[in-house]
Amino acid sequence: MGDAAQLDRGGAVVIRGWCPGALRPMDSGDGWVVRIRPPGGRLDAAQAQAIADAAEAHGNGVIELTGRANLQLRGVTPASHVPLIEALRPHGLIDADARAEGRRNIIVTPFADAEADRLAAELAKALVASDLALPAKFGFAVDPGAAPVLTRDPADIRIEAGPTLRADGLDRAAPYRGPQDALALARWFLDQGGAPDGRGRMSALIAAGAQPPGAVLATPNPAPRPAPGLVPEGLLVGLEFGQIAPDTLRRLGRLAPLRLTPWRMVLIRGAHRLPAIPGLILDPHDPRLRLRACPGAPACPQAQAATRPLARALAPLIPADAVLHVSGCAKGCGWPRAADVTLTATGAGFDLIRHGRAQDAPALRGLDPDQLPKVL
Ligand code: SF4
Repeated sequence: MGDAAQLDRGGAVVIRGWCPGALRPMDSGDGWVVRIRPPGGRLDAAQAQAIADAAEAHGNGVIELTGRANLQLRGVTPASHVPLIEALRPHGLIDADARAEGRRNIIVTPFADAEADRLAAELAKALVASDLALPAKFGFAVDPGAAPVLTRDPADIRIEAGPTLRADGLDRAAPYRGPQDALALARWFLDQGGAPDGRGRMSALIAAGAQPPGAVLATPNPAPRPAPGLVPEGLLVGLEFGQIAPDTLRRLGRLAPLRLTPWRMVLIRGAHRLPAIPGLILDPHDPRLRLRACPGAPACPQAQAATRPLARALAPLIPADAVLHVSGCAKGCGWPRAADVTLTATGAGFDLIRHGRAQDAPALRGLDPDQLPKVL
């Protein structure tokens, strides 16, 4: 996680270490990154238009869908941050304050029905009102469909079919009666010493042998990994590098309500066909779905090399279920998680990391791009 800047209520900026948000942007190589958490992962036409307009007017026009189904705008500056927030606030996209924003760390299944939306809204309200001091990356998944779809995505506490409540890393769940149960499990995590220095994840606590009370119910098998194409709820479209052009976002928003996913895909709710819109991946076998890459050079002044052309060139060499991450430097902004193969640009070629993050210890160092096809 990089440094981030918080805009406080008085308008002053404080540089500190945070998970980024809209009110606490993160400093990156190409300016501030402003992360928007649309409530419930939903966007209507006006919200999609507002985000697209704000990205162009107050950022560098780059909009990225994150691994937690949020949208981040890049290239925001200290001068453009306040007008950006003012443009988005009337559309219900900005929390009351940075504290509330930081607590509303929930991924909702894009296939949510009205009941799932209700569970998510209820949980968000309870989290914002709670006094729990959870780690910044500690998150919740609302995934109550018959077969859960978010099991591979980052969350510490999961509301699944039943509804039931499951601690990440455990294969048993407890009955879920309401948000008080999710908060009680989060409090149990803290009481058990899950975050000794303010950091920690539920799966690590479970792996260390801790057992939450009441987890006796069997859990359903997860759904297969979703792919672009038709689904009962509409049409899933993929985004290369998770990036969506402002005009593409506007046009999709005008078609139907949108649901954001943590899979570099957007669900166009209720759609069955799509007009020709450039930049969307519709083929589930498209190798671009395997790629992660930050903007790299020349967009980012910290980049040691261009990233996306190299990632595109190597995509056909990556197995269908694997992820290739090409990072312009060891910060790893484009994919802060482990990938099957990560290539990190350094001043002396690329380091290759297997099953790790951009800053992890490499298996091979200083590779020339020409060597990479052979190595992979
Ligand atoms: S990871 Fe990429 S975007 Fe982030 S600072 Fe490095 S080069 Fe820039």
